[in-house]
Amino acid sequence: TRGWIAADTHIHTRTFSGHGDAALEETMLSIAGEGIELAVATDHNHHTDYRPSAKALGVAEHFTPVIGNEVTTAIGHFNIFPIHPEAPTPNHTLGSWQHLLTTMRGVEGVRVIVLNHPRNVHGDFSPMAPELFDPMSGIHSWASAMAFDGMEVITSAALQSDPMLLFHDWFALLNRGHRLVGLGSSDTHDISRFIVGQGRTYIRCEDELPSGVDIEEACQAFLNGRALISMGLWVNMTINDRFEVGDHVPVPQKPLDVQVEVAGPSWTTVEVVELYQNGKCIEQSYIQDGSKPGKKATVRWQVDALDAPSYLVAVARGPAVEEPFWTIPRPYQHATIDYQSMVIGATNPIWIGGNE
Ligand SMILES: [Zn+2]
Ligand SMILES: [Zn+2]
Repeated sequence: TRGWIAADTHIHTRTFSGHGDAALEETMLSIAGEGIELAVATDHNHHTDYRPSAKALGVAEHFTPVIGNEVTTAIGHFNIFPIHPEAPTPNHTLGSWQHLLTTMRGVEGVRVIVLNHPRNVHGDFSPMAPELFDPMSGIHSWASAMAFDGMEVITSAALQSDPMLLFHDWFALLNRGHRLVGLGSSDTHDISRFIVGQGRTYIRCEDELPSGVDIEEACQAFLNGRALISMGLWVNMTINDRFEVGDHVPVPQKPLDVQVEVAGPSWTTVEVVELYQNGKCIEQSYIQDGSKPGKKATVRWQVDALDAPSYLVAVARGPAVEEPFWTIPRPYQHATIDYQSMVIGATNPIWIGGNE
């Protein structure tokens, strides 16, 4: 993936999070083995520095470690990074998003705050519970404190029964004007029950040296929405061969030429590619023979510009991997035996018209 670095922004160890089965040392090997270039340590309310361990195990050249924290509170879980090695952990007992945000922004080094697995229920609380959030209108009771930078739409260790559910939540929030960058991450605490980097985010960034990723450049690119959401498929989009994910296209005079590219490893297949405008599916293409390793499919559409402003997001999906080396996990908190399992990849928005 030239020009894109593979990031897993949500990684735990049993050593410092107290559950799962992955010792710190094992996690170092997993990160290197899964091709993750930017590895964010997010143990619960703990600042973990991978550097000494990565060095001791001889894998330091394979990735760039980032100290982060899954600020684990009674009103949601939030990943914050990067964190200065000496910074104390923030108070996780505060009772409002507003207070938490102020405190988390105050942690030395922090550039990015992510709303994690928004549909999970922990201690009877879910950030997207029906009493707080209306998925049709995108109205959230705590909208004024919805000032996170990103939101996990794929968390491979905490999947929904319908993997598109969080995409629709995200679209609803975007439609309400909440500029949250979509992410994929693993949230793994394990060696192989859940796999590091199965859910991941590709960030537009200089990628010459896996151990030398410029963390500030990566954070800035992420904040600008130059990020691709991935679980088995890599999906990218350009408009008029010129505008990229995160870009703003001036109000167009003629139809837009939208090109979507899908890539992935030999063990995943793309079946369908979709284009969403303001959260509504406006184009759909079924792919024949979408299992080739590397580049799997290219789709082009001519799209009439709606009344600007609007945004476009591309999504690609395919059958779940069932082989033991990369099994797509079952949903995390499913209520029934009915669920959909798939590989999935998506872009962040390209914005049409409007300001910025
Ligand atoms: Zn969590
Ligand atoms: Zn977690």
